[in-house]
Amino acid sequence: MGLSSKDPYCALVLGGSFDPVHTGHIALAKHLCDVLKPDELRIIPAGQPWQKSALTATSEQRVSMLKLAFEDWPDCKLIIDAQEIRRAEAHVASYTIETLRELRTELGAQASICFAMGADQLLNLHTWHQWKDLFSVAHLCAASRPGFDINLACPEVTKEWQKRMISPQEMRASAAGGTYLDSSLAVDVSATQLRKELKQHNPTIRLLVTHKVLDYIQQHSIYQNNGY
Ligand code: ATP
Repeated sequence: MGLSSKDPYCALVLGGSFDPVHTGHIALAKHLCDVLKPDELRIIPAGQPWQKSALTATSEQRVSMLKLAFEDWPDCKLIIDAQEIRRAEAHVASYTIETLRELRTELGAQASICFAMGADQLLNLHTWHQWKDLFSVAHLCAASRPGFDINLACPEVTKEWQKRMISPQEMRASAAGGTYLDSSLAVDVSATQLRKELKQHNPTIRLLVTHKVLDYIQQHSIYQNNGY
């Protein structure tokens, strides 16, 4: 793509539970790094997500696994940002809008902030706290994910999304407010499936997680007794 020297600093942001981080997360980040060529990839593990039941791995374990999965990230600077974990530890509810506002304060008004999500999150977007305000702080990028049909997004989200669609070049060159949909990703893995297969000692887990993360999970006996 035509990256211009005038383009502002760009952060590609990936939030999630990462319980545990898997090859779907890595593929999503890699793919969007190839498209957007950001200056940083910022991974923001959730504290205690309000839309999900309790996580299995501790925050410390999830951060350790993220460090192993993304170590020596070749594309750009890698930051694992624990702001949501810190808020949860202080018993403060954490919403993506607040996280992105904090990031905007840190990176300044000009920076291009691109928040990445899989198709499952796009289908949920209308339930997010102050979801329409997200566009005033960041761009939103969604990638396809097997099992989730983006055509089934809430009509209000679809309308908002379509009127804001821009190219990756435009997204890279501006601060916020655009949407980009990438339909080429097709990595059929989820943390739920992975937790299940880890509990069952299914050998296919080797395809779903990096070997360092798998070693870590086994050394710390993390997903032996989880309810998936
Ligand atoms: P769980 O199964 O526990 O709900 P998950 O696999 O969806 O977890 P999360 O940590 O919740 O993983 O996901 C973080 C982000 O990565 C979300 O935006 C999610 O949509 C995206 N993502 C996860 N897996 C994939 C995948 N296979 N393809 C595309 N995006 C993905």
